[in-house]
Amino acid sequence: MNQLRLLNVSKTYKNGVKALDNVSIEINSGMFGLLGPNGAGKSTLMRTIATLQQPDSGEIYLDDIDILNQKMELRKVLGYLPQSFGVYPKLSAEKLLHYFAELKGLSNKAERKQIVDYALEVTNLYDVKNKHVAGYSGGMKQRFGIAQLLLNNPKLIIVDEPTAGLDPAERHRFLNVLREIGTNHIVILSTHIVDDVKELCTDMAILNGGKLLCHKKPIDAVLDL
Ligand code: ADP
Ligand code: ADP
Repeated sequence: MNQLRLLNVSKTYKNGVKALDNVSIEINSGMFGLLGPNGAGKSTLMRTIATLQQPDSGEIYLDDIDILNQKMELRKVLGYLPQSFGVYPKLSAEKLLHYFAELKGLSNKAERKQIVDYALEVTNLYDVKNKHVAGYSGGMKQRFGIAQLLLNNPKLIIVDEPTAGLDPAERHRFLNVLREIGTNHIVILSTHIVDDVKELCTDMAILNGGKLLCHKKPIDAVLDL
């Protein structure tokens, strides 16, 4: 059972915007939804947990890793899908995943094939593995992003507003992929779409103006909105 713990995390940007105001929370294995309107501080929180930026104060732990002081330890077990589509070279999904797996140090070809096939299957891209990722639709690219971050079997997976701009069918396919991987990882989904959280998450919190407003089961929170 993995656990992520945040203790009194605060961040004020140089322009005076208080993006995170004393945020404390415990997140366990499964699908966690971080809901909040634009400007709430979601991306700031996601980037902070992903060690891409430093808070002004507070502590963050993933199990026994002190994230703010052991960045490299965290990065080895992190999968992070940021908020924009990637630009990809003209290579098939399968070839690109093999390449990324090699970059991550998987030099044994049989082991690499096993993890690449797993990533393609979980993300429902196996049937289109020979197509160029550059020609994928937005939703397929998002699922490819998930396939890519599964290659090092991360403990913690962070996806920032992944369904923005997806059509309903693709959104559904994407949420199903998250549901599948949520069974054996901590997955944090940041979104402003209440239905994403309602459909998927076992636990949730609402962020507004940098403050964590509530932290409870999705259905109760949705009734409160
Ligand atoms: P910090 O206080 O973390 O050093 P900065 O004020 O130096 O942050 O800004 C870091 C980057 O974020 C800059 O490239 C800046 O252009 C960009 N930025 C500034 N204001 C905003 C904003 N309101 N939303 C998103 N990005 C912003
Ligand atoms: P969300 O992801 O929920 O939309 P953000 O974390 O992007 O929220 O932004 C929270 C607040 O901090 C907003 O008011 C935003 O304009 C501001 N902000 C975000 N990044 C920066 C930055 N680098 N510099 C200054 N202000 C920022």
